[in-house]
Amino acid sequence: MNENAAQKIRLIMELRRQGISNTSVLSAMERIPREEFIPQTFRDRAYENIALPITSGQTISQPYIVAYMTQLLNPSSLKKVLEVGTGSGYQAAVLSKLFRRVYSVERHRPLHINAAKLFEKLSLSNITCKLGDGYRGWKEQAPFSHIIVTAAAEEVPAALVDQLGDNGVMVIPVGRDQGDQTMLRITKDHHGMLAEEELIPVRFVPLVQGLAVEV
Ligand code: SAH
Repeated sequence: MNENAAQKIRLIMELRRQGISNTSVLSAMERIPREEFIPQTFRDRAYENIALPITSGQTISQPYIVAYMTQLLNPSSLKKVLEVGTGSGYQAAVLSKLFRRVYSVERHRPLHINAAKLFEKLSLSNITCKLGDGYRGWKEQAPFSHIIVTAAAEEVPAALVDQLGDNGVMVIPVGRDQGDQTMLRITKDHHGMLAEEELIPVRFVPLVQGLAVEV
């Protein structure tokens, strides 16, 4: 067995110990090669349970957080999910094994282009991604049964609540600064009524409105 495969098994066992019990989520994480989404310099750390830097000053989330948020969504292979914050593309790749269709929006052009190439290379053909401001969601594709936001918002963007379908689930980190963010799960019932659960403290890069100006 190669070094990556052994490390990957150790990581999956660690995620189970940390409370990830959904076997479809664990198996999706096992099937996606995280090293592909990580800059060359950090590739040997791909299966450590840590966040790592990617381009444009952003980060690929810690595997535990990816697994935790995915499990919170309660994924269904019949459904369609919107991700705000494509970043490296890793979270979208994991989602692609669990949902019928994945839509993902990123505001940094280099990240968007790189992720689109990876989805093609790994034949993840049920992911559609675009460069745009995810704060506004993706109106043309709405409603979504599930929404996952992978950057921290000061407040839940109204457009995302609007684009969440009835019986929908949204998972979003909310908080003003990096030291004070909470993971929220928002559910919409079949009458369109909202309920909100405050979950664990987290640390995400900020959700920023508008497209990024590349320097
Ligand atoms: N899901 C990513 C995590 C990336 S970090 C992964 O698996 O690697 C969060 C990402 O959200 C960053 O790439 C950041 O540029 C992006 N982001 C922040 N605000 C955004 C917005 N308004 N619209 C789209 N993407 C945004």
